[in-house]
Order: sequence, then C-alpha cells, then structure tokens
Amino acid sequence: HSQIQYEEFESNFYQEHEEIANLNVAQVEKIKREYQIHVKGNNVPKPIISFGHLQLDQKLVNKIVAQNFEKPTAIQSQALPCVLSGRNVIGVAKTGSGKTIAYVWPMLVHVSAQRAVEKKEGPIGLVVVPTRELGQQVYLETKKYAQLFQISVSALLGGENKHHQWKELRAGVDIIIATPGRLIEMVKKKATNLQRCTYIVLDEADQMFSLGFEYQIRSIIGQIRPDKQILLFTATMKKKIRQLCVDMLIDPIVITIGENENQVNEDIKQLPVIVDDDEGRLRWLLQNLKTYLQNGKVLIFANQMGQCESLLSEIKQKLGIQGLTLYGDKLQYERTLIINQFKQHVHLLIATDIASRGLDIKEIRTVINYFPPKDADIYIHRIGRTGRAGNCDGVAYSLVQKQDWKFAIMLVRSIELAGQIVPQELEEIANLDDHFKMDRMKKKMGYDYARGKDASKILHQALKRQT
Ligand code: ADP
Ligand code: MG
Repeated sequence: HSQIQYEEFESNFYQEHEEIANLNVAQVEKIKREYQIHVKGNNVPKPIISFGHLQLDQKLVNKIVAQNFEKPTAIQSQALPCVLSGRNVIGVAKTGSGKTIAYVWPMLVHVSAQRAVEKKEGPIGLVVVPTRELGQQVYLETKKYAQLFQISVSALLGGENKHHQWKELRAGVDIIIATPGRLIEMVKKKATNLQRCTYIVLDEADQMFSLGFEYQIRSIIGQIRPDKQILLFTATMKKKIRQLCVDMLIDPIVITIGENENQVNEDIKQLPVIVDDDEGRLRWLLQNLKTYLQNGKVLIFANQMGQCESLLSEIKQKLGIQGLTLYGDKLQYERTLIINQFKQHVHLLIATDIASRGLDIKEIRTVINYFPPKDADIYIHRIGRTGRAGNCDGVAYSLVQKQDWKFAIMLVRSIELAGQIVPQELEEIANLDDHFKMDRMKKKMGYDYARGKDASKILHQALKRQT
C-alpha cells in the first residue's frame, strides 16, 4: 500500500438533524433503552428516530415512502448515522431486522460522492456475502436503490457466467456484490481491482471469519487501502470472532441490539417435537405438513443432499404435494430458478444450510429442522428465515430424538433466551447430559434460595406493619 498513491475520498455525509442535536443525554438514553441499543466506541453519533433525520436525497426518500417503511428498525436507527459518518461499524441484530438497508443506503451516498469510475476501474463499494443465494438477494436490493442514482451494480457470484461478468467489469463498475471465491478469481485475472474500493461490507460477518472463509476474506481486505470504511453485520457473533473483528477495525463502533448474546428473534415461536426415531420424524411430518402449508410457505432443513431428495420423494408419494430441493451440488442456474420459484408459486422447499443465512422470503411461516443443525448459530439463522421484519409471526419446529441431547441443550437455552416455555420432555432429553443437569440444578437452587430470602423479607415487613 505504501507504494500506491491513493486519491482522497470523502466518507462523512452525516449532518445531525436539529431535532436530534437538541436531544439531551436523558432523552438519548431513553431512546436507546426503548430500542434496546447497546453501543461501544468513541464519539458515537446519537440514534435517529425517523428516516427524515438522515436528510437523504429526495429520490431515496420517495422510494422509502413508496415502500411504506414507517420508521427505522433498531439497528437502522443507530447504525445509519454511524455508517453515514464514515465510521467503521460492527452491527449485531437479530434475523429479519433490516440490516441490509443499514449498509446499502449509506453505500449509495458514499458512492455518489466520489469521482465517477472510468473504464476498467474497479468498484467503490463492495459487499461480500457467504452464499450465492444471499448475493443475488443483496444484488437486487442494492439495484433497486442504485437505479435512482444511475449507480452501476455487478454481481460476482460463483457458478455464474464469467464471460458476462468479465465484460461488465471491464466497463467499470461502481458497486460489486460478491462471494469471496469468485471475487478473488476475478481480481487475480485482473478483470477488476480493488484500488478504488473505499467502502466494504461483510454481511453475515461471523460466517466470513469462520473456517474456510477467513483466509479468503483476509486476502480481500488486505488488498484494499488501509483507510477504507469497513462494515460488518450479523445476527450471531461468537465472542472470539467479535474480538477478532474489533481488533481488525480502526476505531470501530460496535452496535448490539437486544440483550441476547445470540440474536434469537423472540417473535418466532420455537416448538420442539420429540420423536423416537427416523420413522417417527417422517410420520410427524406427513401428518402435519398439509396444515402448515395452509398457513404459508414451509422451509424444511436437512443436512445433506440425499436427505433432501428422499424426503421430497416421500412427500410427493404419500401426500401428493409438490416441492423443491436446494443444495450446493445443483447447478447455479437451477439454484437461482429454485429460489425464484419458491418466492413465487412453490410453497415447499427442502434445503441444506445454503438456505440458512440471510434469505428474505416474507411468506415463509414455518421452518422445520428435520435434522438438527450443526450448532446454535446455524439454528438461529435457520429459524430466522421466518418472522421477517416483525410483520409476520413464524413458527419453527425442531425434531429431536433422545440421541440428539446436544441439540436439546441448545434448544432449551435458545427457547429460554426468547422468553418462551421449555417443554418438560425436551428438558428431560437435555438432562441426559450430566453437566447440563448439574448446571440447571444449581441455578434452580440459587434461584429458589434468592426467592426464599425475598419472601421472608416481605413477610417480615408485613408482620412489622401489622404490629
Ligand atoms: P436482516 O438482514 O436483518 O435479516 P433484511 O435486511 O433482510 O433483514 O430485512 C428484512 C425485511 O425487512 C426486508 O423484507 C426489508 O425490506 C424489511 N425492512 C427493512 N427495514 C424496514 C423498516 N424500517 N420498516 C419495515 N420493513 C423493513
Ligand atoms: Mg441480512
């Protein structure tokens, strides 16, 4: 980097609205409490309470009005002013809470303000996502707003036509939405370069730093000028990864919405279903699927391609219901087609975890964990495919067998975090683990003990009043 002369760029586009400037500390605290905003960082801008406070371009404002967005979601309220100010931000908020907009709108403001890209110049804005399906969705969402400003957007997603991508890139492009592998390939082939990139987003950031992606991500970030603005968004963030992210960013603002460590969306009803064996799984599904399909779309998660296919063929045979399957082994054009069909007329999709992150399909009312997810984070993302943006409730069923006690433990914790009731049967399976059982017992005793003390105090006071 020291050998390259980077041109200056602008990154602060935020001017505090009078109404926000006039808020005193207590009022700001109240807003933060109501929105459950927790922030860490230096000189953090105040949250906004209306999109009007951002003083955005009228074209964008009209579009917001046309979409009937009433007010910012919690993450938007705090993240938008921070990102518009040019700050590096880590945003952790539950699934379906509108994180995309929190980085897309400021990206358009940022890109509009820079010198226009010329032929063969690389992008100013870059969004990196873990799956092609999410990439396509973010691409469409970005395009929807970018069109208003004649900003060009390209998708560099694996599996798609390289020749076409190459041609688009050579013409010069303002924004790229990419999966890591394809982006690196295109940079290596010199179809594009990251010299003009000053705004980079990692969506589903925690997955980007997990095994398999981390090296690629570091290599991408390493190629971008050190003073770039960098934004990380996710619904789940393990402590270790959070620290890694904080260390990587210069003077970051860390925004977390809600109390939950992992951002379970409380609006999603989590219902465990205890089954005896694989036959029991299938029986339960065949008995209930029709009812669930009456409420809306159904997304079923399995772990492998074979499971998806055999499940769908059982459903077709026994119930006469049509559906689709989605997994990584399918050709890209098929994957795209399947998501589009599921968005439109098809009501049932059986998928592996390539569908677990980020996808925003409003009509999904039911998610079924037919086989257990690998860990708690994947569980949160899977069930997060329903309950989008608080405008619809969703239900997530999880099939649990005795041998799945690890999953049962995770479920107990997640259900409790969401403030819902843990069924006794589930607790019993979780209790098969001695550590878990001991832990729970200790907690319960501690709780009763504390309550006991309280009760005696109240009694004591009551008695005192009487005498
Ligand atoms: P996340 O990335 O947090 O999972 P998304 O960005 O995919 O969530 O947004 C989920 C849905 O909420 C989208 O359909 C989006 O259009 C909608 N949405 C975003 N912001 C708002 C808002 N302020 N008011 C109403 N709906 C919104
Ligand atoms: Mg998202």
